[in-house]
Amino acid sequence: MSGTGSGAGVTIGSCDVLVAGGGPAGCAAALALVRAGADVVIVAPVATADWQVGESCAPAARPLLERLGLLDLVALDGHAPCYGIQAAWGGEAPTEVSQVLGPYGAGWHLDRARFDAAFLEVAGAAGASRHAGRVRCVWRREDHWQLTTDAGGLLRARYLVDATGRPARLARRLGATPIRSDRLTAVAGLLTAPGGAAGSEHTSLVESTPWGWWYTAPLPGGTQVLMAMTDADLVVGTHLLDRDAWWAQAQRTGHIRHRIAHLDAPPRQLRVLAAGSSHTRPAAGPGWTVAGDAASATDPLAARGILMALATGLDSARAILADHSGDTHALAAYAGRIAALHQEYLRAQAAQYRRERRWDAAPFWRRRHQASLPPLISA
Ligand SMILES: Cc1cc2nc3c(=O)[nH]c(=O)nc-3n(C[C@H](O)[C@H](O)[C@H](O)COP(=O)(O)OP(=O)(O)OC[C@H]3O[C@@H](n4cnc5c(N)ncnc54)[C@H](O)[C@@H]3O)c2cc1C
Repeated sequence: MSGTGSGAGVTIGSCDVLVAGGGPAGCAAALALVRAGADVVIVAPVATADWQVGESCAPAARPLLERLGLLDLVALDGHAPCYGIQAAWGGEAPTEVSQVLGPYGAGWHLDRARFDAAFLEVAGAAGASRHAGRVRCVWRREDHWQLTTDAGGLLRARYLVDATGRPARLARRLGATPIRSDRLTAVAGLLTAPGGAAGSEHTSLVESTPWGWWYTAPLPGGTQVLMAMTDADLVVGTHLLDRDAWWAQAQRTGHIRHRIAHLDAPPRQLRVLAAGSSHTRPAAGPGWTVAGDAASATDPLAARGILMALATGLDSARAILADHSGDTHALAAYAGRIAALHQEYLRAQAAQYRRERRWDAAPFWRRRHQASLPPLISA
């Protein structure tokens, strides 16, 4: 970074690449770029939540974490192993997909807030500068971008990476179009065990219901996340916003209730989170890329958001470096890969939802069964 200075609450600086968002996608992109010699600034708000959703890290993330130099951090920082996923889906009896026997071994149940904070630190230690705040405005000036932040900063950058998560806040201003496929919504609570006693279960559990599905997973430190997933317009009718009703419905499940039987309940508060699938088209243009959820946000059922955030963060860094070296197709090729990846994901998602046929007439399932499939090959 060149020419950064602070005065009267205003920071003015310029850099090669400005990464908006300090989640896994932004940090992966920033780390790859600084290691390649670029001046990088990460603009991200100071994290305040002690608990963050998105904890199941797929085993396939292992080679990416290794490439980023994060594998030891994940292995040694108190995150818990995840041996597989059990799902009562399409029938009463749960089936289990074991991860331990797969090519990458176990995945993890991460403490996401700690993982993200540690990742930001690693990116900072590698040389990425950090600007605390949110990007507010973006505009093009000849050969560079100019941005303001809500912390009063004015920054210039040759390239921009929008890694702001599902809302894809910059991409809209760059002329890209966010395309939403559904309005899946999570009503999530953090459950604690009396005395903080850790459970012995190391798998995630999914169970479908007429209005959607439940998900639970143990978290490091003896807590457990429990989420009800339904569509935004169905939340009120299912009474899931009421803590007691939410808890009572969990008690009426066939399997989830056994997983939460030893936990204190209901939780002190519920969080309502957008969890729908969406993608941004195009995912790159002259001088900019979109990465992570901002590029392709997937259903938590797929439990691949972190993996994709790392992969697309790294890929967008590669595309920027190639563009900078004169490869005029690199950014368009990256956008093409994201579009193809998301279409492939949508087909897999549709196939998974079609495996549950017990409540065909219920709105949540009918919408998913009737949704038209994207074509096999990107138009
Ligand atoms: C309910 C739910 C459950 C999930 N469960 C799983 C799971 O089990 N496993 C899994 O792999 N994935 C899961 N995911 C998805 C996973 O959390 C995301 O895919 C992942 O966090 C994406 O990383 P990211 O870096 O793209 O975005 P994020 O992690 O969302 O990070 C975006 C960052 O950008 C910052 N930001 C926002 N606006 C601005 C701005 N204007 N300027 C600067 N910064 C900004 C935000 O503060 C945030 O720090 C789940 C998601 C949901 C909603």
